[in-house]
Amino acid sequence: MNYADIKTVDIQDGTGVRVSIYVSGCHFHCKGCHNKEAWDFNYGKKFEDSTIDYIIDLMKPGYISGLSILGGEPLEIINQQGLVKLVERVKEVYPEKTIWCYTGYDFEKDVYGKMYKEHDFTKKLLENIDIMVDGEFVEEKKIVDLKFRGSTNQKKIDVKASLKEGKTVQLKFGDEARYENIEETKNPKVLFFHEFKDKNNEIAKEEHEVIAIANQVIAENEKIVSIQPAYEVKEVEEKIAAKGIGIDKDSNL
Ligand code: SF4
Repeated sequence: MNYADIKTVDIQDGTGVRVSIYVSGCHFHCKGCHNKEAWDFNYGKKFEDSTIDYIIDLMKPGYISGLSILGGEPLEIINQQGLVKLVERVKEVYPEKTIWCYTGYDFEKDVYGKMYKEHDFTKKLLENIDIMVDGEFVEEKKIVDLKFRGSTNQKKIDVKASLKEGKTVQLKFGDEARYENIEETKNPKVLFFHEFKDKNNEIAKEEHEVIAIANQVIAENEKIVSIQPAYEVKEVEEKIAAKGIGIDKDSNL
């Protein structure tokens, strides 16, 4: 197994301050992937026993909450085989610290439903992982401030509870409710106002309805409340301009 990178301080990919390893090799090739160089299984450095020692050392400080494993694709067979030793050692030395793992596979269908039953190494791996974030990254479902995941289709799974209960147990970190209506919102419309002076020099208001892309919009109780700044304002302006409507810079877009 090769790895692309090791981050000594990571506050994005799991709770608290973490050490992260990005393994090499991924067959998913998701559109918009930020780690394209790690698609190649030969990219980066060889993962060796000394790499495990290095990670164990990095995780020593009390402020490190755990290890996050990303990619590339940690659950490609060759990577799973390489990672078993790492997760077992981490749990042996730091039983109180958590291990998060990000995968493009679907936990229920592919990981627990298939690999776990077929491979001893998957079993060993899952028995040492606390949280798995599953599912391919879907650019159209991307929201920038989702907690610990990139797109709304991805789920955060409590692996220990799932193994115990024999079914997928999802974890919620508070952001889900905010976005949960998005998937169901059909053709959401956003209102914005354009102020201008009419022919009598009076201030008039024009009301526009803009059909927005679902995952750019924050929906609460099925009501669209604002545009999520997943895109730069300029990009939003361009999208709206393409619909032939002007945009007021003071609107909430
Ligand atoms: S699964 Fe992850 S590493 Fe692989 S292509 Fe998708 S986003 Fe990139």
